[in-house]
Amino acid sequence: MRVHAITLGCQMSAADGARIMDELGRRGLTPAPDPDSADAVVLTTCAVRAHAEQRALSLIGRLGAWRRADARRLLVVAGCVAERRGQGLIRRFPHVDLVIGARQADRYAELIYEAVTAKNMCRASPEIGGTPSEARHIGARLQTSLQRSPEKPGTYSSRPLANICGNIIIMRGCDCRCAYCVVPLVRGPEVCRPPRDIVAEARAKTAAGARELTLLGQRVNAYSWEEGGRRTDFADLLRELDAVPGLLRLRFMSPHPDRLDERVLDALAECARPAPFIHLPAQSGCDRILRLMRRGYTRAQFLRAADRLRRRVPGVVLSTDIIVGFSTETDAEFRESLELLTELRPATTFAFKYSAREGTPAAELEDDVPRETKERRLAELNGLVEELTLTALRTQVGKTVEVLAETPTFGRTGDGFKVKWANPARPGSLVRVRVRGATRRTLLGDSHEP
Ligand code: SAH
Ligand code: SF4
Repeated sequence: MRVHAITLGCQMSAADGARIMDELGRRGLTPAPDPDSADAVVLTTCAVRAHAEQRALSLIGRLGAWRRADARRLLVVAGCVAERRGQGLIRRFPHVDLVIGARQADRYAELIYEAVTAKNMCRASPEIGGTPSEARHIGARLQTSLQRSPEKPGTYSSRPLANICGNIIIMRGCDCRCAYCVVPLVRGPEVCRPPRDIVAEARAKTAAGARELTLLGQRVNAYSWEEGGRRTDFADLLRELDAVPGLLRLRFMSPHPDRLDERVLDALAECARPAPFIHLPAQSGCDRILRLMRRGYTRAQFLRAADRLRRRVPGVVLSTDIIVGFSTETDAEFRESLELLTELRPATTFAFKYSAREGTPAAELEDDVPRETKERRLAELNGLVEELTLTALRTQVGKTVEVLAETPTFGRTGDGFKVKWANPARPGSLVRVRVRGATRRTLLGDSHEP
């Protein structure tokens, strides 16, 4: 049986998609490069914004022809949209065979394997409409949209990344109640994994060739595990992972700005592996909006957290998230977000138009900023983001940077800059590249030296 995985959404979703394929592989199923050559398609979905959910629903709809072209095929929908919509998805899309919500994430592979095996046993069933050529057409369209996706932030293709870089989920769910956010509703309360499992996974991944690991959680610095009277927090976890043999870089996503305590800063300053690139989501630069969002910090407190990071981790490069057009946000308040970015100087910013998500506290407020206003604010903010990114990239031109080669001619610096160069290097090696220029998002180097 061949399985094709399509993963939409955040890195957590990408990590789930990759883990499903890993575990199914261990059970003897093989990955398929496209839906056309697959017996089963597993779609891992994201519900964080209305647009992401719409995208998932439209993809499920488009997969109908593929699924109907051969009754032996199996379509599985997993992740946050599956959690939110439940069996309602099958009522709306009868071609979906199996829906597995995000709260069952630890059982994805097991449940999919059961379904695949059951399906395999009734392979003699008759076809139910659709033609193979129609399926091929849909398959090709899907592939085209997916191949573009790595360029889009927050969207990942089903092609496995070189295993030089791996993700480890350290906790699921979220105990925060940011007013706009659906994550606590779909993923439930915070549940941390035991440190020994995380360290074992890190050791297994580095033994298999990974050189960079990213720890994933909605609020990684709230990580906490107690056993035998001993508590392990995020700072302890960083220190334990710092000693994993073969590991060159440790990243994490995302820390919450109001929990950047001294212990975490000490660990970042003292450990060798944590990379000096940190995603610190601000969401807004306006105190009134931050309060409505229930983020738990003011603009000044956020900037202080960023400042403390910069002092303790010299040269650290930051990225952030901003939501524009939150309920009741005025133009003047939006400008405060622009000013925050100018002051913060992040190398990258992911900006989103606010979308009200059913069941969240913010959905009770009127979503009163018109769509065109949100779009205008997003475009203006992205203009500033491009300038800031370009400024950050230009500071690197002329330097010789150390890059972890993810492919023979592409890799990233510890502080997160993407670099391309000419002569092939061994993936997984650290190379030195002299930067001679930059495109809008990538540094261009001469040939590398070991
Ligand atoms: N746990 C992470 C965020 C996960 S969601 C954190 O706290 O930073 C990823 C991003 O999606 C958020 O940072 C936010 O910028 C955006 N987002 C979440 N809900 C949204 C909504 N309803 N509308 C628009 N953007 C949203
Ligand atoms: Fe959502 Fe806030 Fe939790 Fe992030 S910290 S997942 S934005 S509730």
